[in-house]
Amino acid sequence: MRIVIIGAGMSGLACAQALEQMGHEVALFDKGRGPGGRMSTRRVALDEAQISFDHGAQFFTAREEAFRAQVEQWRKDGLVACWPAARDDAWVGTPGMNAPIAHMASVHNARFASHAMGLVREGADWRVLLHDGSRHGPYDAAVLALPAEQAAAFLGTYDLTMAACAIAARSQPCWTAMMAFAERLPIAADVLRPSGPVGWAARNSAKPGRSATEAWVVQASPAWSTEHLEDDAAQVAEFLADWLAGQAGGAPLPLPVRLHLSAHRWRYAVAQRSPKGALWNANLRLGACGDWLLGPRIELAWLSGTKLAGLIGG
Ligand SMILES: Cc1cc2nc3c(=O)[nH]c(=O)nc-3n(C[C@H](O)[C@H](O)[C@H](O)COP(=O)(O)OP(=O)(O)OC[C@H]3O[C@@H](n4cnc5c(N)ncnc54)[C@H](O)[C@@H]3O)c2cc1C
Repeated sequence: MRIVIIGAGMSGLACAQALEQMGHEVALFDKGRGPGGRMSTRRVALDEAQISFDHGAQFFTAREEAFRAQVEQWRKDGLVACWPAARDDAWVGTPGMNAPIAHMASVHNARFASHAMGLVREGADWRVLLHDGSRHGPYDAAVLALPAEQAAAFLGTYDLTMAACAIAARSQPCWTAMMAFAERLPIAADVLRPSGPVGWAARNSAKPGRSATEAWVVQASPAWSTEHLEDDAAQVAEFLADWLAGQAGGAPLPLPVRLHLSAHRWRYAVAQRSPKGALWNANLRLGACGDWLLGPRIELAWLSGTKLAGLIGG
């Protein structure tokens, strides 16, 4: 079959990989400027250096046999490395969190900067309409590999049961601040797991394969992010930077010169847990996968995409 997948994050690419192994022909479209989805890496050019920040997912674990085999292959290919600072069994992409996604996207010919605005059924075929007015297809099957809230908009026209499932799934937001400094901050630990407004903070430059410039990622808790969802990004960045400065409290002031500060809002960051795995309507040949069908982890997004491929082509 010729199959179109909208969304080239971990679930969409895992689905593409398994479908191509079965002999299907796959096309992927993603609205992002580059590969990553919620495993994105932001690169910032400074005068003398380029710094990167993993501003979405911070690390991942591999518990299921099939995903462990996948991670082992990525390790052999130099795309991931262990990061015990987070936990004993933690993995990160190298040189950035998006490395496995970038690799899979190149192998499976994913197209970025391609915002799907419509999914149209013509007879038994599917076509995709992009933001630039271009039409793609025909395809024999269509897959939505998007956060639930974004998938719901497409599903509603064709399958009310699937759409209801997506509408019922609720994601929580996450404000993320990215900061770089001229020197090391006087904070001993590379990972802070505080409570209150901040859910996670880490010295990004301590991850394997990153540049030496002192770089931090500070992620607000779901509750704080929800309460401040519509706040100004610059103000959120300053708030989270003040919080980090507080962690360096007791050290001789002033703190090292700040080279960079920005914030990113993930509106649909953390999916709910679900037992569904994946959705597939065999009559329409329309499916959905993503972390919202299993749980809010990279491994579960991969498993959801792989499961959907099994339903489609098995
Ligand atoms: C701040 C944050 C921290 C996290 N921390 C961790 C962690 O430490 N460990 C862990 O395991 N997981 C973590 N996660 C969760 C993990 O990132 C996700 O579970 C996983 O990446 C989801 O993959 P996915 O393919 O389901 O969705 P996504 O990665 O969101 O992929 C969906 C893709 O669809 C694209 N898209 C959306 N709409 C359209 C459209 N109309 N047209 C075309 N393309 C479209 C998007 O650009 C995106 O690339 C975190 C997530 C966030 C945001």
